Amino acid sequence: MKLFLRCNSGHFFTSDVCPWDGWSHPSFKLAIETFNRLELEGKPVSIESLRNAGLDEEALQRVVILEFGDPQVALDGIYPKQVMVNGRLVNPSDLDWRFK
Ligand SMILES: [Zn+2]
Repeated sequence: MKLFLRCNSGHFFTSDVCPWDGWSHPSFKLAIETFNRLELEGKPVSIESLRNAGLDEEALQRVVILEFGDPQVALDGIYPKQVMVNGRLVNPSDLDWRFK
């Protein structure tokens, strides 16, 4: 399982700062710490378990948990060229406020 965080430009990354534009959120460090702690404790990691561990809703809106079938191809960051929303291809820069 990997915790990905989303910046306001639609990039996804596993660090507390976006590697492409330097954007961050005050709760990103806490999100990473909480995720790592749950994994060390052997507890199941999910959005709900992060919420129950005290992560705030604003941070949770920027959290994605991915599980890769092969750890050798697990990514550390994603910079999408296009995304699909409600069946429609969209450039990330054209996404509305919900994705910013
Ligand atoms: Zn970014």
